[in-house]
Amino acid sequence: AEGTLADIVSHAKEYGFVFPSSEIYDGLAAVYDYGPMGVELKNNLKQLWWRAMTQLNQNVVGIDAAIFMHPLTWKASGHIDGFSDPMIDNLDSKKRYRADVLLEDKAAEYEKSGELARAETLLAEMGRLLTAEDLAGVKQLIIDEKITCPVSKTGNWTDVRQFNLMFSTQIGAVAGDSSQIYLRPETAQGIFVNFLNVQKSARQKVPFGIAQIGKAFRNEIVARQFIFRMREFEQMEMQFFVRPGTEGEWYTQWKETRRRWHEALGLPADKLRFHDHEKLAHYAKAAVDIEYEFPFGFKEIEGIHSRSDFDLTQHQTLSRKKQNYFDNDLNPETGKPYGNYVPYVVETSVGADRLFLATLCQAFQEETIVEGEGEEQKTKTRKLLRLHPAVAPVKAAIFPLVKKDGLPEKANEIYNSLRHDFRLVVEEKDSIGTRYTRQDLIGTPFCIAVDHQTLEDNTVTVRHRDSREQTRMPISELRAYIGEAVSF
Ligand code: ATP
Repeated sequence: AEGTLADIVSHAKEYGFVFPSSEIYDGLAAVYDYGPMGVELKNNLKQLWWRAMTQLNQNVVGIDAAIFMHPLTWKASGHIDGFSDPMIDNLDSKKRYRADVLLEDKAAEYEKSGELARAETLLAEMGRLLTAEDLAGVKQLIIDEKITCPVSKTGNWTDVRQFNLMFSTQIGAVAGDSSQIYLRPETAQGIFVNFLNVQKSARQKVPFGIAQIGKAFRNEIVARQFIFRMREFEQMEMQFFVRPGTEGEWYTQWKETRRRWHEALGLPADKLRFHDHEKLAHYAKAAVDIEYEFPFGFKEIEGIHSRSDFDLTQHQTLSRKKQNYFDNDLNPETGKPYGNYVPYVVETSVGADRLFLATLCQAFQEETIVEGEGEEQKTKTRKLLRLHPAVAPVKAAIFPLVKKDGLPEKANEIYNSLRHDFRLVVEEKDSIGTRYTRQDLIGTPFCIAVDHQTLEDNTVTVRHRDSREQTRMPISELRAYIGEAVSF
């Protein structure tokens, strides 16, 4: 069986994947810390993404830009004027909600009960009102749909107001307007302002991409969704710069490439879908979400956006620095070079934390297994994480069968011969069954048992997490065997 969100949250806490931030002070809303297992899993996901971008494509290079940026960046990008969510308060419960999320949840309810047309009409109407910035209309729609507060079940709503999501702070010694800066709400702008630096220094020709992994901050109006919606989170973004007119092909290509990547990592095709946006962001020409079916429904994990030349042109205007690229490829129609233009951009943007949550939800399983034979046979349930070996925090656990006769020494010898290649652990404590259980819970794909026969013939028993099958093999084959399984 798959887990509920509550199962995932408690499993994540108990086994060191995710802890609430500052928990001893009762936590901080929508802020989380990654524990010893979580940081390994997250690092593995980030590293695989980084390789899928910068190692598999000669024309994608990386940067690591600062979180603080010149304040005009956010004027140019439209975030100061346009990066807000419509919020509404419930007067009884004093809880704050996003008006669009309340309406989306209502539409999902209709969809669930088979009223598809009704769901579609509601989403279309919401999109129209939000695009027209008709906030009174949005409130009226919430009232007409008889939407109640999820907590107090009353419909006692305030007006809808726009709420800017950027965190601001002061830079330097003197407070005042000129020294107000923002924590970046997306990593993309660090890429745009470096477009020419990167293009020239890396000697790239359009089409090419710039990839970046880094923290982003949004003062989200939060409903409890664990690490799905955080106020401090990590994005993995790639801006692909293309010749105007070719953005459609690249948009389609990256859409497919990114979906395949999620499938290869273990998210099954029937739990992924594309969802076109009802309401386009201020910068977008076309936008699609890759959604994964979480225990709480299909939700976005990655956005693919065709951003036109919006960002580069805006930066050109505010910085008064040309953002042109000279394309000396020949245009077959004119026989002359394409010449100067501001490139168009296709963006792929995935949240490391959302991908982490999807990975955990997909991997978590509770199953009934049969142990022993004949009279001794009994059934029990086991929980495990069926993580792709490439992302598993620990690749193999080595167990000396007993704590004597030189078995622990032999186990450590194996550990030392493989630790440069893989993250391994040696465990001596408890029965072998208990040790298997512990590794299943954190998703370790292999357990290697060292017994008395090992001392004689240098073979070990490798136990497989998912099938619980055991294979006897020479120690000398472990590196290739594990290496094959964890490669991606
Ligand atoms: P949403 O509609 O869920 O608020 P968004 O459309 O604003 O998301 P984008 O601006 O497209 O999100 O950001 C790209 C990606 O960054 C998202 O697909 C998501 O994986 C991640 N992301 C965005 N906001 C958050 C957040 N508050 N917490 C965690 N991840 C986030």
